[in-house]
Amino acid sequence: MKVCKFGGTSMANAEQIRKVCSIITSDPERRVVVVSAPGKRFDSDIKITDMLIDCAEKFLKGEDHEEVLENIVSRFREIAENLGLGNQIIVDIENNLRTRLQMGYDSDEKLMDRMKAAGEDNAARLVASYLKSTGHQAQYLNPKDAGLFLSDEYGNARVLPQSIKNLQRIKSMKGIIIFPGFFGYSLSGEVVTFPRGGSDITGSILAAALEVDVYENFTDVNSVFAASPKLIENPKPISVLTYREMRELAYAGFSVLHEETLEPVYQKGIPVNIKNTNNPKAPGTLITPTRDDSASPLAGIAGGKGFCSINIHKYMMNREVGFGRKVLQILEEEFVPFEHMPSGIDDISIIIRKQYMDDEKKSRIMERIAKDLRVDSVNIEYDLGLVMVVGEGMMHTVGIAARVTKALARHGINIRMINQGSSEVSIMFGVSEDDVDKAIICIYDEFFR
Ligand code: ASP
Repeated sequence: MKVCKFGGTSMANAEQIRKVCSIITSDPERRVVVVSAPGKRFDSDIKITDMLIDCAEKFLKGEDHEEVLENIVSRFREIAENLGLGNQIIVDIENNLRTRLQMGYDSDEKLMDRMKAAGEDNAARLVASYLKSTGHQAQYLNPKDAGLFLSDEYGNARVLPQSIKNLQRIKSMKGIIIFPGFFGYSLSGEVVTFPRGGSDITGSILAAALEVDVYENFTDVNSVFAASPKLIENPKPISVLTYREMRELAYAGFSVLHEETLEPVYQKGIPVNIKNTNNPKAPGTLITPTRDDSASPLAGIAGGKGFCSINIHKYMMNREVGFGRKVLQILEEEFVPFEHMPSGIDDISIIIRKQYMDDEKKSRIMERIAKDLRVDSVNIEYDLGLVMVVGEGMMHTVGIAARVTKALARHGINIRMINQGSSEVSIMFGVSEDDVDKAIICIYDEFFR
């Protein structure tokens, strides 16, 4: 049995959905299918999820939301008509959207998640109808009926452990199950969504619960590449990656998989196959527990922007028992997650994503660190980018860091910090945001050209 997930570009129009359905029906093992909301048909297009967010925002502000709602319905109408489905499904989709707005809500975030989920939910109903219309046994399955329960962190949910057992019931269901990605339900029955791009996570949870042979994740590229094709012309395709490598690369900017995707399948050792809906015969990239890294110690290079660093200096910091805990406690109390924490004997830097630090939080945190911990100095540095060099083989290959630093030096890129975790699966280089792209290109040239 296989779980397959199809992303937004695979669902963007009727032609793509026909390809999706022919992929599903060409292999009887493809029994459970997770779909995203229709995404972009061309570069300047708008994803249905973004239209739904726009509609919910306008509604919440009391602004006119009718036009955007009609645009959403007409995107679905175009798909349904071109798939030869009757008018009833469009009437149902329009009613479904209007009911979501009219149902009442006691917080904005609840309404927002309820609207965001409508893209996947209606797309799944559409695909199930189309499969049935072409003579296949298929059914839409609602995540609540399936028992997919999530934490009530709106827009940022995590799966609750009991879901795994609940979802096992799907095994005995007949025909092809079409499951909407991206959302589940809180224990109090509200729709809750994963972070953006979270249909990947739904697929992974189902693959783990059903203990399938493989989780096939269909997207619009032939494979994962060693660096972003936006920066490198014809980058090297990667045929096999480990979970840890993919997790590090996704964390640092590879958008092919959502970075939280791998946790459920990792626990069960289920391989993930990234494949291309537009070229399903291509083998794609296989993500597995281990790989033979003798030929290529490095798997890939990724980079991300939007970080900042809180730099703390206190003379004799190393002798102060509990100093690190106290700093992190301040962050915890402000609900700010930290990413990395490189340190020296009297210095500690804490790398944080800028999105978690508004001005008010920043001044409270800085004041508490200065006063409560009586440090000698504390400052915050913005415009920090992280470049990650990732590969399982680095652990037993001498000289990788040296080659990276030499390449960066040759191109005049200043390294603001270096951090290597004990697993040695990645080395992180902190550079100016403006240097991130240049750094990726020169490291790629050093290792892969
Ligand atoms: N449709 C959602 C988004 O655009 C989730 C997904 O596509 O995975 O973020």
